Amino acid sequence: MAYNDENIFAKILRGDAPAFKVYEDDYSLAFMDVMPQVEGHTLVIPKNPTENLHDADPVILGHTMGTVQKVAAAVKQAFTAPGIMIAQLNGAPAGQTVFHLHFHILPRANGIDIAMHARDMADFTLLETHAQRIREALG
Ligand code: AMP
Repeated sequence: MAYNDENIFAKILRGDAPAFKVYEDDYSLAFMDVMPQVEGHTLVIPKNPTENLHDADPVILGHTMGTVQKVAAAVKQAFTAPGIMIAQLNGAPAGQTVFHLHFHILPRANGIDIAMHARDMADFTLLETHAQRIREALG
C-alpha cells in the first residue's frame, strides 16, 4: 500500500498538527502519545515517509532505533521506571492505527497495568509537564 501523507504523524512532521515534542534530529522525532497507556508514554518516528517496519529503509531504521534507545533512557530516568517496554505494531490486524512507522516507549513497574491502547485523551497540561521531564532528562 502506498504511504498516505494525510496521517496524523505526517501532519505533525509538516507542522500542520501540534505535538508535545521531546527530541528531534535530522532523521527522527519523539513526542508524547496523546492517549497514553501509562504516564510517560512516548513515541519515536522516522522523518522519512515510512508506513511500517516492512517498508523501512534499514539505514533509517537503524537511526530511528538509536533515537529509541536515547529517548527510552531519558523516559526511564524521568519517570524513575524500573522497566521500559518498547512496542511497534505493523498493519491494522496487529493494531496499528496510525500508518507512519512509530515505536512506543512505555515506562513499566511491577503491579502497574497499562491502559487500553489509543483510548483516553490525556490532560494536555499534565502531558506538557511529562514532556518537560523527559526533555530535562535528555539534557
Ligand atoms: P498504533 O496503534 O501503534 O498505530 O499507535 C498509534 C498511537 O498514536 C496511539 O497510541 C495513539 O494514542 C497515538 N496518537 C494518535 N494521535 C496522536 C497525536 N495527534 N499525537 C500523539 N499521539 C497520537
